[in-house]
Amino acid sequence: MFESLTGRLEGIFKKLTGRGGLTEQLVGETLEEIRVALLEADVSLDVVKSFTEGLSARLVGQAQKSGLTGAQQVIAEVYQEMVHILGDHRATIALASKPPTIIFMMGLQGSGKTTTAAKLALHFKGQNRRVLLVASDLARLAAIDQLKVLGEQIGVPVLLPPDGTTRPSDLYPLVKRRVIEGMYEVVIVDTAGRLTVDSALMGELKELRRLYSPKECLLVVDAMQGQEAVGVAKTFDAEIGVDGVVFTKLDGDTRGGAVLSIRQVLKKPIKFVGMGEKLDRLEAFFPDRMASRIIG
Ligand code: GDP
Repeated sequence: MFESLTGRLEGIFKKLTGRGGLTEQLVGETLEEIRVALLEADVSLDVVKSFTEGLSARLVGQAQKSGLTGAQQVIAEVYQEMVHILGDHRATIALASKPPTIIFMMGLQGSGKTTTAAKLALHFKGQNRRVLLVASDLARLAAIDQLKVLGEQIGVPVLLPPDGTTRPSDLYPLVKRRVIEGMYEVVIVDTAGRLTVDSALMGELKELRRLYSPKECLLVVDAMQGQEAVGVAKTFDAEIGVDGVVFTKLDGDTRGGAVLSIRQVLKKPIKFVGMGEKLDRLEAFFPDRMASRIIG
């Protein structure tokens, strides 16, 4: 994860070691190197700007702290700024005061939406909650089978569309009935994806949102995708409304741009990260732990 950014930052910090106290020139040079490293990691321009400005405000004119070398002082401030752009605090899914808590999984095809729906179902099952998965991605028949298989693997029931169902909204009355019968506390709806954002998809999601009134609309984003993923997220948020983001495939080596940009651009928290294909590889997102991992 973030190997090249971590490597770049380590190089910058290493160069600082042995250069004594924090002179204005040294701070200036370091800020410039960090700026370039972030741009190369594909972090959005505005976020890079706010990061280096925040860092500059902390470092410029800062007296040398006793017991800390200049390098240690810079690392501490980069860490703080990184925690800040990642969202400062952990954001969780708040369950509805009156069950069921309905969660929409949204995202483009291939983002890992269906897998993440099952991972989240397992997460809630682990909290001893009664969970129902809903296969509402009628655009991709394989997605229905995939969710059925995943549900069987984790022992969570999946509401499947009856043969001949063409409109996802037709599933809603069945979901309502099943929730009452099964006293489900958490309902996770795997909504349709597409290869790109289009108006038909947005229209479908808007209609479903109106019908279900979900407590959480989670956007699943492939961390390998870079800046274009941030653009897609902005469209989902403007059209449907996004309550939180789940980044998938963080077990792979991503440049990190989308992960570092999305909180500031979207003003919505990252809630979970996918760390592998297996269904237990979903982790809560902690900005401080992620910042430590990135800094190395
Ligand atoms: P969907 O089209 O958005 O529903 O995507 P899928 O759930 O079918 O996932 C697409 C591919 O990404 C599958 O091969 C998944 O196993 C894989 N995938 C999903 N999440 C992760 C993850 O966190 N790490 C890795 N390495 N692969 C993942």
